[in-house]
Amino acid sequence: AGCLYVVATPIGNLGDLAPRAQRVLAQVTRIAAEDTRNTATLLTHFGIRTPMLALHDHNEDRIAASVVEALQRGESLALVSDAGTPLVSDPGFSLVRAARAAGCEVIAIPGACAAVAALSIAGLPSDSFLFAGFLPPKSGARRERIQQLAREPRSVIVYESSHRIADCARDLADLLGERRVMLAREITKRFEQSVLCEARALPEWLAADPNRERGEFVLVIEAAADVDASLLEAEKVLKILMGELP
Ligand code: SAM
Repeated sequence: AGCLYVVATPIGNLGDLAPRAQRVLAQVTRIAAEDTRNTATLLTHFGIRTPMLALHDHNEDRIAASVVEALQRGESLALVSDAGTPLVSDPGFSLVRAARAAGCEVIAIPGACAAVAALSIAGLPSDSFLFAGFLPPKSGARRERIQQLAREPRSVIVYESSHRIADCARDLADLLGERRVMLAREITKRFEQSVLCEARALPEWLAADPNRERGEFVLVIEAAADVDASLLEAEKVLKILMGELP
């Protein structure tokens, strides 16, 4: 049987597509891509002419079945997403699950991942961390999620889009105050920038230059201080009881 290569692609700088990834993309019979037009640009840049098939969230199950059939016939295929590592806030899970279920070999061709890149430059503890994907788009749900993540005893990594970064920064400032946050934007790109500051300073940092709200963002949130959970619980109960006092 053939094998499924899960290939990470650059998150901005095309120089990050390693020689091995290039070789695999050139040698497989087909490439399952999140957006074939986007991947076409990448392939053209490297002179790769491998045919593609489109893999969207809404057709992934159907495509997965036909890819698995092809693997079983002996074809080797690659899976890519628009940027970075497939399956990390990107399509591919159904396909990899189906390939595994069919007993096919699945091989990682590792490379860029915005979450890991951000963690590696954050200057916040990285021995153990939580990747929480995108924060909810609406403020109410986002604030609730931030409050929940604020209790996490590990560093927390989240993705955010340029449309919401300013609102998100305000919510973080509001809810996290002096807790430190590292914001990285446009990693590997021309206007790459990062800052490690207290959450309350983020809105001002963003507002200092209108360009700072542009592009793609990763946030790394400092872990909750190591307070004994039972102590926090006791404090909560105490507060409620105090409220009941005449
Ligand atoms: N699979 C990708 C990965 O491995 O990082 C993530 C895909 S997700 C749909 C896109 C989000 O990743 C963006 O909204 C942003 O939060 C983050 N991202 C991707 N590229 C980035 C970059 N160059 N700089 C900062 N964040 C980036």
